[in-house]
Amino acid sequence: MRRTKIIATLGPATDDAESIDQLLQAGVDVVRINFSHGDHASHEKRIKMVRASAAKHGRYVGILGDLQGPKIRIEKFRDGSVTLKEGQEFVLDPALDADAGTDRGVSVAYENLAADVSPGDVLLLGDGHIVLSVGAVAGSRIACTVQVGGELGSNKGINRQGGGLSAPALTDKDRDDLAFAARHQVEWVAVSFVRTAADVEEARHCLHAAGGAGRVIAKIERSEAVSTLGAIVDAADAVMVARGDLAVETGYAGLTGLQKRIIRETRHRHKVSITATQMMESMINNQVPTRAEVSDVANAVMDGTDAVMLSAETAVGRFPAKAIATMSEICEGAEAYHRTAARMSRHRMDDRFGRVDEAIAMASMYTANHLDVEAIIALTESGSTALWMSRIRSDIPIFALARDPQTLCRVSLYRGVYPVEFDNLSTDPQSVYQDVFRELLDMQLVHPGDLVIVTKGDLEGVSGGTNGLKILRVTGQ
Ligand code: PGA
Ligand code: MN
Repeated sequence: MRRTKIIATLGPATDDAESIDQLLQAGVDVVRINFSHGDHASHEKRIKMVRASAAKHGRYVGILGDLQGPKIRIEKFRDGSVTLKEGQEFVLDPALDADAGTDRGVSVAYENLAADVSPGDVLLLGDGHIVLSVGAVAGSRIACTVQVGGELGSNKGINRQGGGLSAPALTDKDRDDLAFAARHQVEWVAVSFVRTAADVEEARHCLHAAGGAGRVIAKIERSEAVSTLGAIVDAADAVMVARGDLAVETGYAGLTGLQKRIIRETRHRHKVSITATQMMESMINNQVPTRAEVSDVANAVMDGTDAVMLSAETAVGRFPAKAIATMSEICEGAEAYHRTAARMSRHRMDDRFGRVDEAIAMASMYTANHLDVEAIIALTESGSTALWMSRIRSDIPIFALARDPQTLCRVSLYRGVYPVEFDNLSTDPQSVYQDVFRELLDMQLVHPGDLVIVTKGDLEGVSGGTNGLKILRVTGQ
């Protein structure tokens, strides 16, 4: 069973029920709705299709709404694109006509850009394909010299090397999209271009105020976020190593090390990590990944990421299901490499625990990793016991048994955790273990005679109530 989870971005390439079915069959765990593209009607249609398909296949697939954030973009060129030559002058100026850009200059969809840049700054356009160095700044007009030229299309993003653009993380559009996410009860919301912990808290506040119960993912894609990483991880429920923008702002040479650092820090703080962008990029057009992509996905798995994410590969690519199936295979291959070392985790050996359910989760993993246990079964309300368990490296499956569909869809993102619907409230306390075994035996997730660990609370239906751990041998009915 694959432990690392796969997130696939939905888009025009996956816009009918049949394509969605194929994504699920290929093994997708969470789908991403990208608020940077498309309108609410199309997002709503996709969410409904995914939920219908998941119900049909008896699966729990989480929905992740990814906010656009304050991505700063140039406006439009009169002819769609221009070609810039090294050494020429090129002007960025929000005061210019929005759709009349030429090879001498273009408008910018951010009024304050001039206030955020100074002579000598390096601006990167279109994910770093075009490099400009800032010369004179006068009023709203920024005169630049082209350092690396090439073709530049309309609406491309602008990043400043080293970060420092001051646009606040939540735009009006993001607030509107958060309300949409709340209405549709999406399980995860990703906040783009987070600078500080306060940005994360504000997004969560907005979501809750609109009636949403989703959990918040901080996208690490600004230099500023790297310098306040610990506080951001603490404020968020999960983080995304958003390598597209992150590499542009911080330079790609340090990216792989930074990814390792972010994942390590996130696990250490009991939070969930996602590794994203260009993981299988060549599969937008090809049926087979490059060896570099194979190594990239495997490296993220070995880093301990909870999930790997596909973007254009599934949103606009030619082989969405194939990309997922291939990624799945690579994850399993990388997990097999680590299997023997997995039970040696020394994670938090010297820590003190703050809560009873946390202590039970840790004790379960310590026991499981030192005994021949086939499965860990967590009867859980909110999924937090399963989350703590999955922060410890192990090759033992963690089955999260819950009755709330949102909990089940949420835990689908956690590494090594598998959602199983189980109504612990209507179960007789005398027979609960038999009922659990019957359910898991039916699904062929455990076998008669397996040694398993079961955690639960004395009082069912209480979040944070887990206070017991039992080591049992699975018996048939
Ligand atoms: P994006 O975020 O796809 O929304 O830009 C991910 C990234 O920047 O890597
Ligand atoms: Mn980004």
